[in-house]
Amino acid sequence: MQFPIALIPCPQHPHSSLSRVNPDPQASQHIFCPECLLEYDNVVLMYRKFPILEDFLAGTAASFQKDRASSGSSNTLKNASFEFLSQKEEKQA
Ligand SMILES: [Zn+2]
Repeated sequence: MQFPIALIPCPQHPHSSLSRVNPDPQASQHIFCPECLLEYDNVVLMYRKFPILEDFLAGTAASFQKDRASSGSSNTLKNASFEFLSQKEEKQA
């Protein structure tokens, strides 16, 4: 899936665009341009380890939509059970 994302300049290297992401929440830096990665000792490892920003965003968006769809159906189920319970209370009153 192609993700229509604008080229976002790196805050540290404004002439270069952000291209990779580190999804580790404990990381000190999460988004990288190619020049940021060159500052690491093992550049090849970093390129392999960090997903491409657009792929990461597309995957996150897909998983969010899936979660939202499944939580939507459970809310419907919850609403249906509340409706049932309130009817039951009305009958008892
Ligand atoms: Zn950079």
